[in-house]
Amino acid sequence: SIEVEADAPEDLKSRAPIVTVMGHVDHGKTSLLDYVRQANVIAGESGGITQHIGAYGVTLEGGQRITFLDTPGHEAFTAMRARGAQVTDIAVIVIAADDAIMPQTKEAISHAQAAGVPIVFAINKVDRPTANPEKIKDSLAQMNLLVEDWGGKIQSHDISAKTGQGVKELLEKVLLEAELLELKSNPDKRANGTVVEAFLDKGRGYVSTILVQGGTLKIGDYVLAGTNSGKVKAMQDERGNSVKEAGPATPISILGLDGAPQAGDKFHVLEDEREAKQIATKRSQLQREQSVRTQRH
Ligand code: GDP
Repeated sequence: SIEVEADAPEDLKSRAPIVTVMGHVDHGKTSLLDYVRQANVIAGESGGITQHIGAYGVTLEGGQRITFLDTPGHEAFTAMRARGAQVTDIAVIVIAADDAIMPQTKEAISHAQAAGVPIVFAINKVDRPTANPEKIKDSLAQMNLLVEDWGGKIQSHDISAKTGQGVKELLEKVLLEAELLELKSNPDKRANGTVVEAFLDKGRGYVSTILVQGGTLKIGDYVLAGTNSGKVKAMQDERGNSVKEAGPATPISILGLDGAPQAGDKFHVLEDEREAKQIATKRSQLQREQSVRTQRH
C-alpha cells in the first residue's frame, strides 16, 4: 500500500463533514437526500445540483459546508468499510415516525457504532397524521439511545423530507456534531481519498466519482485508484461545472482513468505516471492470481 506522509499540525485546515444517510427501507432516505439536493438551501451556489455523481456538497446560510454521500442505505457504507475506507464522519439515521424501530434501523445503528461514527437521528414523515415521534424516541430510549429531548446526548430532529419541515435544523445539528469532531485536513499536498462510484460512459469513457480526503486534486495529476490508473483529463462537480482543482471533502467526477475502480478503493496522486501504471498492473495481476487460487479451492 501507499504511505501517506503525516501532516504537521500547522498544515491542517478545517474541512466539511462527510455524511451518510442510513435507515430502514421506505423510511425516507432517498427523499431526504433529494430534498437537500433540490432545496439547494443555500446561499451563493451557482445552479442546482444536476448530476448524480454519488456524492454532493451543500453550503448552508452561514457558509458552512456539508458533503453527503448520495447512495442511501448501509450497503454502500459497509462495502466501503469492508475495503478499509473510512469515509463517513457522521451518520444520519432516518426513522419514519409513523412506523417503528425496524431491523435495518437497528443494523444502521450498529454499523455506525461499530465504526465509531456519531449518529444524528432524523425522525421523518412528521407531516403524516399518524406520525408519533415521541413513540420513536421512547423506543430509542429503551435501546439505551437517549436523544437530547429525552435528556440524552444524541442529536435528533423531527423532519418531513416531503415538506422540508425541520430539514434545515437537522443540518444545523449535523454541523454541531461536526464541530465536536474538529475535522481537519491538509489541502497543500498531493491528493488522496476514496472512490465513491465509477462507470463506463459511452461518450466520455470511464467516469469515476472520488472523494478527496487529503490534499488537492488537479487536472493533469497522475492517479492510482485500486487496480486502475491514469492522468486526470477533466473534472466536474455535482452541478456539471468544470473545475480545475478539488480540495479536502470535495466530491468530484474525473475523466482519464483506464478503467472503473470499485467503490471504496483508495486513490492517490503519484509523481510519476509510469509508477502509477506499474502499481495498478501489479495489483490486477495479484488480484487475478488470488481469484484463480480461490476457484481451485
Ligand atoms: P427509502 O427507501 O428510505 O429511500 O425511502 P423513500 O425516500 O423512497 O421514501 C419511501 C416513501 O415514503 C416514498 O413514497 C416517499 O414519498 C415517502 N416519504 C418519504 N419521506 C416522507 C415524508 O416526510 N412525508 C411523507 N408523507 N412521505 C414521505
